[in-house]
Amino acid sequence: MSLNESSSNKYHASRIQDVLCAANIFVVGTYATALSVVRDLYKAGAKKISLLNVDAGSTKTENVDATENSFCQKIDLDWTIANIENAISGADLVIDTLSDWQKKLALSDVCMENDKVLVHSGITGFRFQIYTMIPGRSACLRCALPLAGIDEVPRKPAVESTIDAVIELVDAWLSLESIKYLAKIGIVQGNELFKFDCLSGEFEVIRGLDGEPDCPDCGRKVNRRLYPIL
Ligand SMILES: [Zn+2]
Repeated sequence: MSLNESSSNKYHASRIQDVLCAANIFVVGTYATALSVVRDLYKAGAKKISLLNVDAGSTKTENVDATENSFCQKIDLDWTIANIENAISGADLVIDTLSDWQKKLALSDVCMENDKVLVHSGITGFRFQIYTMIPGRSACLRCALPLAGIDEVPRKPAVESTIDAVIELVDAWLSLESIKYLAKIGIVQGNELFKFDCLSGEFEVIRGLDGEPDCPDCGRKVNRRLYPIL
């Protein structure tokens, strides 16, 4: 590595840390599903992370590792649309680690309505998908999932039969998508959904998931074009 490359990389890393340090990041899920995302983002430089625990039955702080406790602000929240809307009002980015599919769709609705970028993940056994939804550019989750061939939304919690290795893979990917979007590095198209099958190794990218003009949620935002196409 040349001297120039080395100093340019250092500049890159410190700029990413500065951006992450200032960003308000909200991770929605439970303590069980969200902690490795929080840890990854914290170690990358994010200091304003809120973990919205929406599972009333979930274990609370007593079961959370003391070190991980300091990575984020933890907020126990009863799941209502009004509560979620209120909680994420100051967010620069929202991350979906929910296990309930109906809540995932509702979170997409709230983020679209309130112009919040949502980094979505969904896990079914050993398969998962990642999708970054940018209001004004992207299809909402209700439109994107059928377009990506994900019609059958599982009724059971998504992580029920999932091993930690899959969850941590997903969490690392969610963290990377978030870092890329916030620091404006790499490519976050906002209309691409990534599908990965951990057992077969099959990887698929579904492209062209633009807002649907006829959809009352994503179509309305696309027509207003809140975000310029980069
Ligand atoms: Zn839509």
